[in-house]
Amino acid sequence: MKTYAIAAIPGDGIGQEVVPAGERVLQALAATEGGFAFDFEHFGWGGDWYRQHGVMMPADGLEALRGKDAILFGSAGDPKIPDHITLWGLRLKICQGFDQYANVRPTRILPGIDSPLKRCKPEDLNWVIVRENSEGEYAGVGGRAHQGHPIEVATDVSIMTRTGVERIIRYAFKLAQSRPRKQLSVVTKSNAQRHAMVMWDEIAAEVARDFPDVHWDKELVDAMTARMVNKPATLDTIVATNLHADILSDLAAALAGSLGIAPTGNIDPERRYPSMFEPIHGSAFDIMGQGLANPIGTFWSCVMLLEHLGELAAAARLMHAIEAVTAQPALHTRDLGGQATTADVTQAVCHALKASQD
Ligand code: NAD
Ligand code: MN
Repeated sequence: MKTYAIAAIPGDGIGQEVVPAGERVLQALAATEGGFAFDFEHFGWGGDWYRQHGVMMPADGLEALRGKDAILFGSAGDPKIPDHITLWGLRLKICQGFDQYANVRPTRILPGIDSPLKRCKPEDLNWVIVRENSEGEYAGVGGRAHQGHPIEVATDVSIMTRTGVERIIRYAFKLAQSRPRKQLSVVTKSNAQRHAMVMWDEIAAEVARDFPDVHWDKELVDAMTARMVNKPATLDTIVATNLHADILSDLAAALAGSLGIAPTGNIDPERRYPSMFEPIHGSAFDIMGQGLANPIGTFWSCVMLLEHLGELAAAARLMHAIEAVTAQPALHTRDLGGQATTADVTQAVCHALKASQD
């Protein structure tokens, strides 16, 4: 029997509630599936680690993760530590260290979930946003000088490389090609940003020639926000820069009902390193420690983890169990207008998995 080695990194805030829930669901799945098992190793990195050691994760932390089949991540973000320290010290260290350059974010309106889009039928919204995850606006290049003086200056320089742009656009075309509609929207801002985004557009047109069966269009990022709200059915696969896709995917999550539902994978498509799966939400300081966190985003991320491992039947079974649970309003957490707890939803998904055993 195959045993998958999984690193669990709950991190901070509600990450510490939803990652153990995800582990329970994956173990319940393995127990009812039979063909494989999970061996979890837990890493207590994050804000508490920072208070004890002065860093978010150990200097040799990546080495401990390198041999894993996948990483299940919660959130980095602590009310008492500046966000740029927690983010760069843990999550981005792993994403960049393992060159997880494709951040993949599916969005659908799950059964039983109410979208704020009143004229949108659930089948009208079925998107995957592909976010460039290694450079661009979040390259980390820049600096500050004359700090505290009137002449103080600060820069965040967006870096776009031909290699970086080409690989993410090619990944997006391939993904679009694998989906029934074979449709890709390339998000840009080449009207105002006249260097890197123009190169981005040129590379998109070049890569498109290798995918003659994919219909593609180009949309300015500001217009894209309106299109997502007004014409959701015209979209399928979407590719955008690090910053643009960061914002568009939170909008997508909200349009699909809640930030608490949305999953993501930080993927190394070449499989040189382990990929990392996590809900898109953060530490949710306002609800942490109260059992109110919606674990569905983490469970859906576990579906993506299973797909990445090639366990497609098990992934589909977990997705069905999740949908069976979201379909019941009595099992909605507070972000969805319900009263269920993290534990209630977790237990219900585990039961649904047992019920679907044969
Ligand atoms: P957030 O996602 O933590 O919370 C935004 C709102 O959504 C809050 O009202 C929260 O209660 C709600 N929410 C989020 N997830 C939920 C869930 N699973 N169930 C129910 N409600 C949920 O975003 P924020 O407030 O902007 O950030 C808080 C901290 O998290 C910051 O430190 C930020 O840097 C960090 N953060 C980390 C990541 C990450 O590690 N991937 C992502 C986003 C934010
Ligand atoms: Mn974000």
